[in-house]
Amino acid sequence: MGTVYAIANQKGGVGKTTTAVNLAACVAEAGYESLLIDIDPQANATIGLGIAKDAHPNVYDLLVGDVELADIVVETSIGSLALAPASPDLAGATVELPRIAGSETRLRDALAGVRSRYTFTLLDCPPSLGPLTVNALVAADRVIVPVQAEYFALEGLAGLLDTLSLVQRELNPRLTVAGMLLTMHDHRTRLAQDVEQEIREHFPELVFDTVIPRNVRVGEAPSFGKPVIHHDPHCAGSDAYFALAKEVAARG
Ligand code: ADP
Ligand code: MG
Repeated sequence: MGTVYAIANQKGGVGKTTTAVNLAACVAEAGYESLLIDIDPQANATIGLGIAKDAHPNVYDLLVGDVELADIVVETSIGSLALAPASPDLAGATVELPRIAGSETRLRDALAGVRSRYTFTLLDCPPSLGPLTVNALVAADRVIVPVQAEYFALEGLAGLLDTLSLVQRELNPRLTVAGMLLTMHDHRTRLAQDVEQEIREHFPELVFDTVIPRNVRVGEAPSFGKPVIHHDPHCAGSDAYFALAKEVAARG
């Protein structure tokens, strides 16, 4: 039975998509059958893997229509990594889903038949706690929360944890936090060190040992439609995402 991870934080620009794409690429590179499901209407994970954002059918059809996961999954340039692509249509799903009774289990139901096929399934969530993220949290076993090593980083985390508890209580008792991940960390700045210290003090058990550094290669890789490990396998960003993949796999 595989494990499903939602990559979630209602803040935008904290490194959710970057983490979803690069963690998926690293576990796939390590030989695990992996699936990345892009549920953000911005389709950045889809584009970052070199796939056009107008694929049909896509995750919108999975959530609102009657297609199956197998009908929308495409191969990527990374062996062992499949992608369920997003499209801008998904923005409509945020309006349509709440009108459909029981729609918060759509993604979980869609995954039921394929969970044994993929060791790792990663869900790249949009920057909100709306119906798309709720679908992801209902389908997931674990949540990875990327936190940008900047001022205001901790703001909103309490709200996110409240939402996770609510989903856990009402909709998905299996859900646990895999960890919080410090991203875009600049070791040279006092601010990044302070944010790291503060978050480790606040959430002693929850923060991954691995920290993702701010790294030019990580930022530019999506413009080549590649994960960073294929753009520059030996940069600090690639090292960090490989270390994270090991840590995630070890935590189970
Ligand atoms: P989110 O999905 O949470 O909105 P992204 O993963 O899209 O955030 O990251 C926001 C921006 O920061 C993107 O332009 C991305 O390329 C860049 N970025 C993310 N992580 C890093 C990093 N470790 N080093 C440099 N740039 C990064
Ligand atoms: Mg994103």
